[in-house]
Amino acid sequence: MAKVALVTGCAAPRSIGRAIALRLAADGFNLVLNDLPSRHEELGALAAEVRDAGRKAIVVPADVTDPFEVDGMTETAVIRLGSLDVAVANAGISQIMPLLDLTIDDWDRMMAINVKSVFLTYRSAARRMIEVGRGGKIIGAASIVAHRSDPYVGHYSASKHAVRGLTQAAAQEWACHGITVNAYCPGIVNTTLWDMIDARFVKLTGVQPGEPTRKAAARAVLGRMEEPKDVAALVSFLAGPDSNFITGQALIADGGIVFA
Ligand code: NAD
Repeated sequence: MAKVALVTGCAAPRSIGRAIALRLAADGFNLVLNDLPSRHEELGALAAEVRDAGRKAIVVPADVTDPFEVDGMTETAVIRLGSLDVAVANAGISQIMPLLDLTIDDWDRMMAINVKSVFLTYRSAARRMIEVGRGGKIIGAASIVAHRSDPYVGHYSASKHAVRGLTQAAAQEWACHGITVNAYCPGIVNTTLWDMIDARFVKLTGVQPGEPTRKAAARAVLGRMEEPKDVAALVSFLAGPDSNFITGQALIADGGIVFA
C-alpha cells in the first residue's frame, strides 16, 4: 500500500508547501493537502495535479492553530487513505517589524501560526502514527533564522528557534515508537512570502523594489535565489528511507548562507 503524507499550508502559488506536495507525489506518496478554508479552490487545483501524477489526494482545509481542526485533519487522513506515514508541518507566516515597534498582537499571531500549529500538527500526527503502529516521519518548517536570528524578524526568528527546540524534544520522546522528527531550514526562497518581505523593506528603508531580495539572496555562496523545489528536495530526503537514521536535526538548505 502506498504511504500517506500530509502537508500543511500547501495551497499558495509558488509556495514551498506546494512544491513539497508535488515532490512527495512524484516520490510515490498519496497526499493529504491542507491550507486555510479560504484557499479551498487552490487546494482543489493542487489535488487535481497530484491525481494527474497518478497518486491519491484528499483536500482537508483547516486552520492549523486550532487543535480540533488539526485532530480532524489527521483523523481524516487515516480514515480516507488508511494511514499517516509522513506529516510536514509547513504552514507559517513572516512579518518584518523592528522589535521596538512590535505589538503583543504581532507576537501572539507569530507564535500561534509558526509555533503552536507546529506543536499541534506534530502531536496529532504522532498520536495517529502510534495508533497505526508502523512508525513515521514528522517534519517541521524552521528556517536559517532558527540557527542565527536576523534583525527586523525578531519574533519570526524566535518562532523558528522554538520549532528547532520542539523538534529535538519530540525526536527523543517518540523514537521508541519508530518516529523520526526533523526540521528543514530554508534560506531566501522565491515565494510570495518573500514578495511581502521585499515590499515591507522597500517601505521601511526607501530602497528600490527587488533590491532587498537581491541583497538577501546574494548572501548565498551558490549565487542564486533558492527555489521551492530546492526545499522540497530536502523534505523528500527527510520523508524517505535514506534519512532513517537521522532524527532531532534542523537541516539547512540555503545555498550557503548560514554554516552550522
Ligand atoms: P507562503 O506564504 O507562500 O505559504 C504559506 C502557506 O501557509 C499559505 O498557503 C498560507 O495560506 C498557509 N497558512 C498560513 N496560516 C495558516 C493556518 N493557520 N492554517 C493553515 N494554513 C496556513 O510561504 P512559504 O514561503 O511557502 O513558507 C512555507 C514555510 O517555510 C513557512 O513556515 C515559512 O516560515 C518557511 N520558510 C520560508 C522561507 C522563504 O524564504 N520563503 C524561508 C525559510 C522558511
